[in-house]
Amino acid sequence: MIDLPAAFDLFADRMMRVIYFDMQRYFVAAGLFTIALLVFRSWAQRKRIQNRRAARKDYTREIASSLHTSFIFALTTFLTLALREVGLVKLKIETFTIVTVAWQLVLMIVAHDAYFYWMHRALHHRRLFRTTHLHHHKSRTPTPWTAYSFSSWEAVTEALFIPLFMLATSTMGFAMTGLAVFLFLWHMIVRNVIGHLGVELYPAGWVDNRWVGWWNTTTHHDLHHSSGNTNFGLYFTWWDRWMGTEHPRYREEFRKVTARTRKAMREKESAGGAAPA
Ligand SMILES: [Zn+2]
Ligand SMILES: [Zn+2]
Repeated sequence: MIDLPAAFDLFADRMMRVIYFDMQRYFVAAGLFTIALLVFRSWAQRKRIQNRRAARKDYTREIASSLHTSFIFALTTFLTLALREVGLVKLKIETFTIVTVAWQLVLMIVAHDAYFYWMHRALHHRRLFRTTHLHHHKSRTPTPWTAYSFSSWEAVTEALFIPLFMLATSTMGFAMTGLAVFLFLWHMIVRNVIGHLGVELYPAGWVDNRWVGWWNTTTHHDLHHSSGNTNFGLYFTWWDRWMGTEHPRYREEFRKVTARTRKAMREKESAGGAAPA
């Protein structure tokens, strides 16, 4: 006979662990970037993308809904682990090689970028937008804390990528390594926080460089928040370029923000010009 209290204790214990596992990534990433922006305040001030500032109520809403999202992410982490228990998902924890981890990580990131682009475009459809994605767009001026600010529907859609991806790879016959999934999760939250930083982190010339120009910058996602139906991609610019959804002034805006070096500001001030917007 099943010992119900013991089964409940085990469930509660595992659930608490996965909630902690999913929540701490958000707080560590958003917290560290917030501290960095405070420490390098004058640099951050020059590289601010929008003139508008997020209000206190924006931060409160973003943190509260990100906690809610972390809980939904924890449920899907739990679901993925349950699928592993019943043998539907293959996950290798102990034995792996660095080469395996590297290609699996790249595969997972590229697959997630495609999933995110199409899911994001679908959520912008007029029939879905209000109930699913409007909540995220309440943050017109994103902050590091916007990263997980989703409605319940969007949180579920975002979270489903991992169990779906793991089911697909397991069906194809290979086991993902625990380390590749772990690194993927950290990469996801760090890139997500950078995309919502409100301050351009990447150096001047980035978007015009043929070797790195395809890597998304903060300006890319910031433009999505400030002006809507363009720049749906998460990590790379590929899908927006292929589908013709890249913001027409993306490069121009990036160049404008990154041209504000300390020297350029000083020269402008001594020439009697107003501080750049
Ligand atoms: Zn959107
Ligand atoms: Zn966003």
